[in-house]
Amino acid sequence: MQRKKYLNGLGHVKAIFFDMDGVIYDSMGNHSEAWSKAFGYMGWDFPLEQVYLNEGRTGSSTIHLLYQEKLGRSATNEEIELIYGKKTEFFDSMVRPLPLQGISKLMEKAKSAGMEIWVVTGSGQDLLLEELCNDFSGLVQKEKIISGKDVTNCKPHPEPYLTALARSGYTPDQVVVIENAPLGIEAAKAAGIFTIGINTGILEDEILWYSGADVVVKEVYQVEELIFVSELE
Ligand code: CA
Repeated sequence: MQRKKYLNGLGHVKAIFFDMDGVIYDSMGNHSEAWSKAFGYMGWDFPLEQVYLNEGRTGSSTIHLLYQEKLGRSATNEEIELIYGKKTEFFDSMVRPLPLQGISKLMEKAKSAGMEIWVVTGSGQDLLLEELCNDFSGLVQKEKIISGKDVTNCKPHPEPYLTALARSGYTPDQVVVIENAPLGIEAAKAAGIFTIGINTGILEDEILWYSGADVVVKEVYQVEELIFVSELE
């Protein structure tokens, strides 16, 4: 972890923009299994590494990608509806993923320090977002979630993060992003925001660095240190 040179100033940010899957919830295992089963319905393989490399896209974008790869064309709306419906069905039938260790504590600390908590996710599943607000009652509010339904262009496009900036009224230098996925990091950096990569998945740290992360850590407590333990120099 290269925290030394970034330490000054992070404690003074006005808001933290959290990605959801793989940052708030330990949910990537469920997502990858659900995608695998949904594409398996088409007889297509969607290897685990590919799931992680494409994490952050909206459902329809992921489906278009596989259709391009397998059939050389985009998916139709009906095909998207079918595959995404199956993926959602599989995902909803699984045991609910748990929050990442320490994430509530980090949010509590951010709130106590007067920082706003925003969630910027490619997910567009209403039920999941409702559960998010319930699980993090008093910390995450519906009106501070930018979901896949709020944008035209998904990560790695900066639109999700630019939308969060516009709605929150903050400038990029007043905000920190926490992301676990390469495309999410690219999106946040393209929006000009300091980005902490938390590597909770199966990819090498290098992939997160190459995507432009300002710092890469493994655990939530390290994020907390980066933002709040300013005496570490
Ligand atoms: Ca993620």
